[in-house]
Amino acid sequence: MATGDAVQEWLRDAAQIFAERAAELNELDRAIGDGDHGSNMSRGLETALTIPIDSQMSPTDSLKQVGMALVSTVGGASGPLFGTFFLRVGQNWQTPSTTAGIAEAVRAGVAGVMSRGKAVEGDKTMVDALAPAAQSLEDSVTRDLPLEEALRLGAAAADQGAQATLGMMARRGRASYLGERSIGHLDPGAVSSAIILNCAARHIS
Ligand code: ADP
Ligand code: MG
Repeated sequence: MATGDAVQEWLRDAAQIFAERAAELNELDRAIGDGDHGSNMSRGLETALTIPIDSQMSPTDSLKQVGMALVSTVGGASGPLFGTFFLRVGQNWQTPSTTAGIAEAVRAGVAGVMSRGKAVEGDKTMVDALAPAAQSLEDSVTRDLPLEEALRLGAAAADQGAQATLGMMARRGRASYLGERSIGHLDPGAVSSAIILNCAARHIS
């Protein structure tokens, strides 16, 4: 069962990984954007976690705290988009956690990102990692898979989706200004999305 603690462990782990990988994510963003994506994600999650966390805090409130921090402290495209993801996942979180409940929460998060950013799959954005993860989780519901396995598969689908952005041409965000020159580079927001899903798979069960 995913308690509020498990969600907090997920978010703490993500904050640490974004701090460790900020330079690498900045580098990805430098190739097709303005080089700030790793700093943005790292700053947003760090800010969220400097607010004292009550151990009794519900998953919805922990996720809301991170979402609000990303929306309010990270400028640019990704803050509001990742913020929306965490807020929507939190609003749709069900306790106790089940494969169906997590699938619904992640789907709601992806839908929020897509409606806010107007990107669809194939536009070379974070949606290209998040949407396959949501689809994989839904497939796991159909197959009646336990939550741990479902999250592992969902994270793998996000990894694959992020890798697939290499061959895509950007149609949304700053990278779209490059047109065909965006092909051959990974989308940094998609890589970040895969990091978030992999962290979830390590902590939510
Ligand atoms: P900025 O582009 O403002 O500098 P970041 O560098 O932090 O913001 O984030 C860039 C990432 O944001 C991209 O890699 C992409 O995944 C995501 N992104 C940008 N615009 C959109 C959009 N309209 N819809 C979905 N994701 C987007
Ligand atoms: Mg940027």
